[in-house]
Amino acid sequence: MSAKPVKAFIIETDDPEESTIQFATTNVAARRQGADEIGTDFEAVSCKRLPWADQYVDSGIPALAYIENDWHVSCANCGAMVHKESGSTDDDGNYEPHEPVYRGEHVFCSPGCETSHDSKVAEQNAKFAAFESRVRELRPDLQYKSFRGAYPYITMTGEFMFDGAKYGGSVRDEGDGALLWFVANGDKAAWDQYEADQAKSGAQ
Ligand SMILES: [Zn+2]
Repeated sequence: MSAKPVKAFIIETDDPEESTIQFATTNVAARRQGADEIGTDFEAVSCKRLPWADQYVDSGIPALAYIENDWHVSCANCGAMVHKESGSTDDDGNYEPHEPVYRGEHVFCSPGCETSHDSKVAEQNAKFAAFESRVRELRPDLQYKSFRGAYPYITMTGEFMFDGAKYGGSVRDEGDGALLWFVANGDKAAWDQYEADQAKSGAQ
């Protein structure tokens, strides 16, 4: 194996919001990957080496590494910008330095923000599990293809097929507990037939 080592590059445009870190063996390859990711032309971006990030090619860059290299990372719960010297001002105007909690690629500005994030995640995931079992119980006859709605989603959806369907349908809960059922336009007739058959077999 004489493969060239993969290195980290930062690709930027004139817009400070638009930068991306890419791992590649050459500057040109990194620049192309970065331009694609930002969604702009190769000519519109600049590309520089980012030696401190080289070691994270396989693991993803931890939030702590960004901060130690003078970057700002937003709190995964409240969005506050966390950096080496950051803090927040409370309602009385008192400045409190952040007490960052690092978790892999994420940082929380305080232990309280971490706790609040974890309970939001647990709450949504419990809601999602309840949604899925409610749908399966309500319509055990449908053939479910997938369910989606774990954190960070709020809207929960399930996709299903039924006997005679070409495209299938979906069920969703926008977060308020009401179940909304949809069937693809091309399957409306098949659905009516299916429901009629279900009603018939249920009545027997
Ligand atoms: Zn926070």
